[in-house]
Amino acid sequence: MDLMEYQAKELFAKHGVPVLPGETVDTPEAARGVAERIGKPVVVKAQVKTGGRGKAGGVKLADTPEEAVARATDILGLDIKGHLVRKVLVTEASDIDTEYYVSFLLDRANRSYLAMASAEGGMEIEQLAVERPEALAKVPVDAVKGVDETKAREIVAAAKIPADVADQVTAIVQSLWQVFVEEEATLVEVNPLCRTPDGRIVALDGKVTLDGNAEFRHKDVFSAYADVVADDDLEGRAKAKDLNYVKLDGQVGIIGNGAGLVMSTLDVVAYAGEKHGGVKPANFLDIGGGASAQVMADGLEIILSDPDVKSVFVNVFGGITSCDAVADGIVQALGMLGDAAHKPLVVRLDGNNVDEGHRILSEANLPQVTVVDTMDGAADKAAELAGAAL
Ligand code: GDP
Ligand code: MN
Repeated sequence: MDLMEYQAKELFAKHGVPVLPGETVDTPEAARGVAERIGKPVVVKAQVKTGGRGKAGGVKLADTPEEAVARATDILGLDIKGHLVRKVLVTEASDIDTEYYVSFLLDRANRSYLAMASAEGGMEIEQLAVERPEALAKVPVDAVKGVDETKAREIVAAAKIPADVADQVTAIVQSLWQVFVEEEATLVEVNPLCRTPDGRIVALDGKVTLDGNAEFRHKDVFSAYADVVADDDLEGRAKAKDLNYVKLDGQVGIIGNGAGLVMSTLDVVAYAGEKHGGVKPANFLDIGGGASAQVMADGLEIILSDPDVKSVFVNVFGGITSCDAVADGIVQALGMLGDAAHKPLVVRLDGNNVDEGHRILSEANLPQVTVVDTMDGAADKAAELAGAAL
């Protein structure tokens, strides 16, 4: 589960990572009270689960409580990379001398943990990693040994953190490791870890992903930070309906049965999309073996409500659930969705009872549905339809 910045900072504070005082609000007027209580210049910060808020206009300084109200008015309701801002953090502003970067993450490729750190934080760390990889230290962390003071010093030295703040940063790196281990995170990131002109170190931003597999050991944290599912939160809505859905950033909605089939569908659509304006899959959705009409309707409803989706590819291999049941499901689902289901749908059925499935679809005579017999052909058609709608 990804946390918002203010939640990450609550966990930081709990484990002794220095953060500045602040409160979240959901109306501009409430920002005034927080700014008054802080009694110093503040930063008003969009609370959304995506990075790059600064560049998107979601992080603004305010010298007075009146300015805090004005900046909160600007930021609340902004759309940042598809995330609607419903809450802002109003927090004490800091003067910045230098911005550092520190993170811990699960390094699946190396079956280990990894610390990354740099004396050049602030800018997009992905960009730094590409343009000046030597400036981003990567230090493997043994899962059993963890990060003691010696290891923390190794990380700080590799990052070329200046000697005069090395002790402070070393202590913070150890505390961040405690956040990582004790909260069972798969990512803990601070960017920027700020050095103030008078040489104090404070976490100005925080990103934490908690390991969903450990939820049962952290019920309190998970329930405190669980999302109120928003209309634009496709993954949240899918989860609430028990759908195996992952949002991607393309335009062709995908529904299939079986994780393997869906993954290969993503590949063939991405490949076909190259010929049609570079369209890509918009999501992963595996509706599983015994997909009922209701599951098909739930899946279609989520996918069709994704504003990026221009066409949908339903790719089903009939096994235990035969193709006629799937075809019935599609017909019923489109009936349930009514006018909401106007985007073009390309259906490829194969396997158990495919002829009956095709007969049901052709008899239903649904104007938005195109049946294509092969997976490659259907992927091409779906990509073509999405490309034409761009
Ligand atoms: P992100 O863009 O989503 O990573 O949001 P951040 O919390 O990292 O804020 C973006 C940028 O705003 C930071 O890199 C800082 O340069 C700036 N910023 C954030 N907090 C402060 C602050 O307290 N004082 C000043 N001067 N700048 C800040
Ligand atoms: Mn940041």
